[in-house]
Amino acid sequence: MSEQLFDTVLIANRGEIALRILRAARDLGLRTVAVHSQADADLRHVALADTALCIGPAAASESYLNPQRLLQAAKLTGAGAIHPGYGFLAESAHFAQAVEEAGLVFVGPTSASIRLMGDKVSAKQAMLEAGVPCVPGSPGALPADAETVRELAEACGYPLIVKASGGGGGRGMRIVHDPRELDEAVAMTREEAGRAFGNPEVYLEKFLEHPRHIEIQVMADGFGNVVWLGERDCSMQRRHQKIIEESPAPGVDRQAITAIGERCVRACQLIGYRGAGTFEFLYENGEFYFIEMNTRVQVEHPVTELVTGVDIVREQLLVALGKPLSVRQEQISLSGHAIECRINAEDPFSFAPAPGTVTRWVAPGGPGIRIDTHLYAGYRVPPYYDSLVAKFLAHGANREQAIKRMRGALAEADLGGIKSSIPLHQRLMDEPGFVAGGFDIHHLERYLNQDQEVSK
Ligand code: ADP
Repeated sequence: MSEQLFDTVLIANRGEIALRILRAARDLGLRTVAVHSQADADLRHVALADTALCIGPAAASESYLNPQRLLQAAKLTGAGAIHPGYGFLAESAHFAQAVEEAGLVFVGPTSASIRLMGDKVSAKQAMLEAGVPCVPGSPGALPADAETVRELAEACGYPLIVKASGGGGGRGMRIVHDPRELDEAVAMTREEAGRAFGNPEVYLEKFLEHPRHIEIQVMADGFGNVVWLGERDCSMQRRHQKIIEESPAPGVDRQAITAIGERCVRACQLIGYRGAGTFEFLYENGEFYFIEMNTRVQVEHPVTELVTGVDIVREQLLVALGKPLSVRQEQISLSGHAIECRINAEDPFSFAPAPGTVTRWVAPGGPGIRIDTHLYAGYRVPPYYDSLVAKFLAHGANREQAIKRMRGALAEADLGGIKSSIPLHQRLMDEPGFVAGGFDIHHLERYLNQDQEVSK
């Protein structure tokens, strides 16, 4: 028996992130287990892993979202740890607890932390206690009494947003502009939240009209060391889905960001947080307002890796192995500027998913370019899962150079057989609002609507 906590890690995910985790594990000399659905036998990481196992049919509920199958696979293959990636079971406190109870290591925070931060009301309370500024709103969940709810809404002010404590993925939210709409909005959100998240609890927040989305990356180990790794601006969104992310956030005062980063570190220390995490904020009129924490690695983590030089997935595995973080706060600084474009297998104009077989794939390259993808010629993009097929990253000495490099990479990419969002990103890299930087979260939808008007 080796002395370390585990020597084999099971990757409970698919696509580009599974490959990313495999590479980090390999770097650390760990053995890897790939688990896949019947629709995913031809994934790149399945071919590269030390052991591969089919765990069920294409439906995620019977494979990637099935805790029992994953635990059985770990047992069968001798895996001592499970890395959940993002999505699927990455933020399931129930799954993390089952992994802990099976005597395995969950590569992430404790199930207790996931539970605390997964409930938006308890997360906000914990953040307020740590001195992290939050969007003004109701103190905790709304009571049943309609009159009290109306008073709380008046105190919060209109427009406001009714949000489900257990909400996620941009669902379970309703904007209220007029007091007359309040009762119905609260009732409908409660009803929906009960059905979708198994928790009917809702709360109120002031609706911010023109915020930017700026988030802070943190990393913590089991020895009380916590660092923050700068910020990412993820304001380029469509239907609450991020499309482009960058670091640093253009035009935001460094001192203000540092003050927020330090508060996030403090919050992690207070809740005994472990692993990688992201504090998401809305930023408006020079103020930051916490909205939620993601207790996992995020799609856009490479943006931070490029500007800090810290390998976040490697750090996650080190922490899971019971080791301290390999970096201290004073060693962290942001160098240059990084941008990520998410490439989906979808129609670049209608956004309709476009699965199919890749007939040609030549990846871009050159200085400052990083491509995270599981694509290869002959690969068949299945219709069952998220449509993200690649992440293009460009790093430059400054934002201007990063944009130029990204334009080059998008032009160089040769992807045949499937439609992708590459043409959309090419337009966005030349769009004046993007080039100027500092746009709000509605910028992309405004741009797309305007475009539709013109083409009518
Ligand atoms: P989810 O967990 O579903 O992603 P969030 O709380 O992170 O929910 O909110 C998702 C998005 O909804 C935000 O990125 C923002 O665009 C919008 N949003 C949430 N709260 C507010 C608010 N108080 N004011 C304005 N927009 C908001």
